[in-house]
Amino acid sequence: MEEINEMIITCPTCHEKESAKSIMKEIEIPHFGKVLETTIVCENCNYKHNDVIALEQKEPAKHQLKITKKTLSSRVVRSQSATVSIPEIGVKVEPGPKSEGYVSNVEGIIVRFENAVKRALNLFSDKDSLEKAENILEKLDELKKGKIEAELIIEDPFGQSNIVDSSAIITLLTKEELKNLKTGFTIIDE
Ligand SMILES: [Zn+2]
Repeated sequence: MEEINEMIITCPTCHEKESAKSIMKEIEIPHFGKVLETTIVCENCNYKHNDVIALEQKEPAKHQLKITKKTLSSRVVRSQSATVSIPEIGVKVEPGPKSEGYVSNVEGIIVRFENAVKRALNLFSDKDSLEKAENILEKLDELKKGKIEAELIIEDPFGQSNIVDSSAIITLLTKEELKNLKTGFTIIDE
């Protein structure tokens, strides 16, 4: 069951009064609990932000899942504080001021990576970077079609994220791993 709550607010970016809409949605995720998804959209400056928070206290954890044709539809909760990576393909999103939290599925994560790489393509001019990006896009496409398999890793120092799949491996993050997790700098982000 979803509970939706809408509010008209002052935009946090352009500060125009009553120009932004805040939509809060409570979603029950099986085997994880309730999450609150917040979307803010401003009509005046087109600011848009999305985030999710888990409403129940969770432990800092690392979630690993083999991406196969079968697990493409598995649900994923990515909070703003999580690092998401597919090491075999060479893509990684770290938390940053612009990073977003969302409820999606494994395929949705791949599409977000594709979009991030496509945006980055426009910034590259040297041949090596372009070739590397094209190669990543090709692999992401094969992954999305279930032609190849790779591991998805989500690490969240605040335990707000999850991969809902019975074959996912969950391990609590060690102090050392927590220290190495970035909480601000972004390499590729949405
Ligand atoms: Zn605005």
